[in-house]
Amino acid sequence: MSNPKLTSFRRIVVKVGSSLLIDSAAGEVREDWLKALAADIARLHQDGKDVLVVSSGSIALGRSRLKLPAGALKLEESQAAAAVGQIALARIWSEVLGAHGIGAGQILVTLQDTEERRRYLNARSTISKLLEWRAVPVINENDTVATNEIRYGDNDRLAARVATMTSADLLILLSDIDGLYTAPPSVNPNARLIPVVVAVTADVEAMAGAAASELSRGGMRTKIEAAKIATSAGTHMLIASGKIAHPLQAIADGGPCTWFLTPANPVTARKRWIAGSLEPKGTLVIDAGAVAALRAGKSLLPAGVIRVEGQFARGDAVVVRGPDTHEIGRGLVAYDAENAERIKGRSSADAAAILGVSGRAEMIHRDDLVVGGPRSTD
Ligand code: GLU
Repeated sequence: MSNPKLTSFRRIVVKVGSSLLIDSAAGEVREDWLKALAADIARLHQDGKDVLVVSSGSIALGRSRLKLPAGALKLEESQAAAAVGQIALARIWSEVLGAHGIGAGQILVTLQDTEERRRYLNARSTISKLLEWRAVPVINENDTVATNEIRYGDNDRLAARVATMTSADLLILLSDIDGLYTAPPSVNPNARLIPVVVAVTADVEAMAGAAASELSRGGMRTKIEAAKIATSAGTHMLIASGKIAHPLQAIADGGPCTWFLTPANPVTARKRWIAGSLEPKGTLVIDAGAVAALRAGKSLLPAGVIRVEGQFARGDAVVVRGPDTHEIGRGLVAYDAENAERIKGRSSADAAAILGVSGRAEMIHRDDLVVGGPRSTD
């Protein structure tokens, strides 16, 4: 299979991590590198692409500007450091893009802004307007207000949600490594770079260790999470090294990277929303028969549910897992956790009798269900 070309994309989200942007010794922005990246972005922009940037670095930069001592920061310290760093970060992006005649627009979002329908639509229309005006949105988490419950914490997943929210067709994660390896290359000299991943299977997840560098929150695990969000919503993703000058040009020239391909058929907007934008509040573990039914496009019935986990309300997003607990998909559940527990394993007629109402028969209706998970990789 030949990989898609960079030139074939219409809307590209580029995520830049703190460890690339900030020199860890000096605590300052690596300006030459950033200027080279901005030149790459300008080139794509000139070719008519919409480009969005998701940039980390506010905490790292704030920390050095405030001359804070080394060591872990408490949440409120990170937030205060981000307040200082974000101003500097926005200014630098505005300068480097401005040098190419491109306006940069700062967008700070929280988890809620990509989850709650109204805020999601708001954020999306602001970004659309910026793109229409040919500006480049520069996006980061709103670290100063994001409390534990409403924060992403890592910009890999934030970037994936931004990509799906804006119907981008490509997400590029620039990393300190040039892609996904069969094993961590730092410990295993035989590790091989995987050029293309057609489905994020359990094997792929297993390759992703947990390593994160000092400055970045992510590591490979959150990149794989990002790949799941992006590819199940119709966005291709790639991981490439940002350690070189002109990293986007290197990708265009066929440099090393890992592509995560999305299945050809784009899912509907509703399913995209379910798959990529909602934080799951619980889990339904289902039996093998139900797994087969779901994969055949059917709804999830109470009878197929073996276990109910978490506290969720009717209409919340839940993760659906097979008997071996591997993720099968995500959906909006028709019952709250308590009622789901009461009717699990029961026929739909029994379920109606138990609940004393003739509610909907399905635990998750197929229109509210996105089935992803492992596909055959032929
Ligand atoms: N939002 C954080 C920052 O700008 C970074 C999160 C991350 O690196 O994933 O400092």
